[in-house]
Amino acid sequence: MELIVPCHFGLESVLKKEIIDLGYDITKVEDGRVTFLGDEDAVCRANIFLRTAERVLIKVGSFHAETFDELFENTKALPWSEFIPKDGKFWVTKASSVKSKLFSPSDIQSIMKKAMVRSLQETYGISWFEEDGESFPVRVFIYKDEVTVSLDTTGDSLHKRGYRKLTAKAPIAENLAAALIMLTPWKKDRILVDPFCGSGTFPIEAAMMAANIAPGMNRSFRAFDWKHLIPAKMWYDCVDEAREEIDMHIATDIQSYDIDPEMTKIARANARLAGVEELIHFQTRPLDALSHSGKYGFIITNPPYGERLEEKKALPALYKTLGEKYRELETWSMYLITSYEDAQKDIGQKADKNRKLYNGMLKTYFYQYMGPKPPRRDNHER
Ligand code: SAH
Repeated sequence: MELIVPCHFGLESVLKKEIIDLGYDITKVEDGRVTFLGDEDAVCRANIFLRTAERVLIKVGSFHAETFDELFENTKALPWSEFIPKDGKFWVTKASSVKSKLFSPSDIQSIMKKAMVRSLQETYGISWFEEDGESFPVRVFIYKDEVTVSLDTTGDSLHKRGYRKLTAKAPIAENLAAALIMLTPWKKDRILVDPFCGSGTFPIEAAMMAANIAPGMNRSFRAFDWKHLIPAKMWYDCVDEAREEIDMHIATDIQSYDIDPEMTKIARANARLAGVEELIHFQTRPLDALSHSGKYGFIITNPPYGERLEEKKALPALYKTLGEKYRELETWSMYLITSYEDAQKDIGQKADKNRKLYNGMLKTYFYQYMGPKPPRRDNHER
């Protein structure tokens, strides 16, 4: 099968690496999605193990269509009965179109549904579908009149790991936080500090990586109900594999700070749900009091960016303090995602690298201030 995995725009390279590390061959990398080859087991493993994915789709087929007639005929010709049983409930849950003649999502959705009904009527020889069985949500994207049709195996988006019961005002998506950490050289034996932890997303994602906890091992997936396609045992085996890989016997230095005691409490509660409370140090501490005696650490954070006017006024001073505190930590690196335009100016230092990213609809930048690499401790042992 071809499996299509959407992700945040701009983070395809991180997802691609994750998929290769899981042991699969990539067939295509496009804006916002990566396609690879895999079997039923890959559906389970991708859903459970990928940290930066948004969902996992099974490609049903693709074709060229410029008219609704072409869309209908080509959709009808796809092998729907290979996936959808007689009592299946099926609908086009999302249609998106870029640079294409067909662009109205609601028309695309209703025409494709009709085509699917017709196709299944012919294979099953029945005229009416009760649709009281399992759900088969279809996702379609059209790019330059090339239509790609897929089935969503995930259900609730993969950034919902299940641990974030309570959130800050503007939490960062879990899969985005994971991808950003993966873009840095941080590893579990290095220090990580989030001075604006909010609901704790960065520290929790980092701790889960450190302990090798699979992001999807404590949630369910749409395709778990597709027993005719994926035996339940495959899911259980995959969760067993994930459980065996966990290693809590590690020493970490992950610090989760926030000025708001309520947020520290929330971050701790979320970490507990994620099973990583003991790997993170939580403290109510304002940015002014940021310090650490260790070397070569990382600040990885999502500072306030001023959604409200009165907050906006506080930003120049806040980012200035951030710059000062960072410079006191001489050997450190700092990575921050923010939509605040004057971030570099107020920090008082140009980032070594920056990357434009979308956090939902919000245009943000990921600023990267790279400190020196630690000396290699094992050199003289060789
Ligand atoms: N990434 C977080 C959201 C961060 S929102 C998440 O995923 O939930 C920014 C956080 O910065 C808020 O929780 C706010 O309480 C905190 N904050 C604002 N000013 C601060 C200061 N001076 N020192 C420390 N924390 C501060």
